[in-house]
Amino acid sequence: MKSVTKMANPGVLRIHPYSPGKPIEELEREYGIKNSIKLASNENPLGPGAAARAAIYRNVQKIAFYPDSHGYYLKKRLADHLQVSPEHITLGNGSNEILELVARAFVAPGEQVIYSQHAFVVYPIVTQAVGAEAVVTPAHQWGTNLPAMQAAIGPKTKLIFIANPNNPTGTWSARKELREFLQAVPANILVVLDEAYAEYVLEEDYPQCIAWLDEFPNLIVTRTFSKIYGLAGIRVGYGVCHPDIAGLLNRVRAPFNVSNLGLAAAEAAIDDHNHVVRSRELNQRGLQQLSAGINKLGLTSIPSVGNFITLDLGCSAIPVYEALLQLGVITRHIGNYAMPNHLRVTVGLAGENRRFLSSLEKVLGARVDG
Ligand SMILES: *Cc1c(COP(=O)(O)O)cnc(C)c1O
Repeated sequence: MKSVTKMANPGVLRIHPYSPGKPIEELEREYGIKNSIKLASNENPLGPGAAARAAIYRNVQKIAFYPDSHGYYLKKRLADHLQVSPEHITLGNGSNEILELVARAFVAPGEQVIYSQHAFVVYPIVTQAVGAEAVVTPAHQWGTNLPAMQAAIGPKTKLIFIANPNNPTGTWSARKELREFLQAVPANILVVLDEAYAEYVLEEDYPQCIAWLDEFPNLIVTRTFSKIYGLAGIRVGYGVCHPDIAGLLNRVRAPFNVSNLGLAAAEAAIDDHNHVVRSRELNQRGLQQLSAGINKLGLTSIPSVGNFITLDLGCSAIPVYEALLQLGVITRHIGNYAMPNHLRVTVGLAGENRRFLSSLEKVLGARVDG
């Protein structure tokens, strides 16, 4: 096997594989627990909306057939929703695939890709997979430091990834700063704005970047049905960008990359405005509940506009993560984001948030007493 390993692209050998955590069934078996709650992957605790579920049932017979490879109806529906043309849209097997398509279509070995410290882990993976060089800029209060990114731009820079809001920090960039940044980026460098959590953000200054596409033809905005729409398991995301870029992404895209159930569910989900509103309101209450509860335990969290919150334990997070697991509460330790003392918890239902907080109190109390 050793010689086979040597055959891989050098960039691939440097990749730390994405670690998604174990399936809930496996954890329950391993730890001998039942009724565990999963607050680990930023999924919607309400699940998919009624319209998406109905569309899945209605279309189940179709899975014997290949899906529409161009996603004609979903693109049309998304285009109306976003006020762009269908030619601006690229559908992906989750928005993760769009990030990968951008790197594959545009970035050559030896070119540079810029992203922030503590940014989403998929950026280093797709950068290394194409043999490019990562330029990691220092964070500002855990979030993206746009001036540092601007300063890092050089002759080899090809692509910049910005998560807005960022996972796992929940931090975000405001309209004015982001616009000024985009104006400063040379037109031959692509900027991916990863907006996986955009639908959760209520801040006045949060930018509507899709409206900027005419002005910045080097801009690619990515969104997903995995987060607020509650469809993470069916894998649908999309990129919105200049049709010329979309055309190039389409060349490297595998045919049939989005399933017919995914297409149907996503199309129905866009119109299920009630579900989005309910999910957003639940999340706002949950963020408040969690941050207040975390403060009450004498801990601090990073202010978040996403559907998750990241708290500073002041000590290594892994033992706390493990102890929470024993109590049936699955969270995420984020040492792989260079944040070994932080724990990320997804906003759950009110009762789940309460259970997380009381379990955390128990775990921390035991550590003080013991
Ligand atoms: C969850 C997430 C995504 C993508 O998820 P998909 O399920 O592939 O759409 C992209 N970016 C960030 C920052 C995320 O947290």
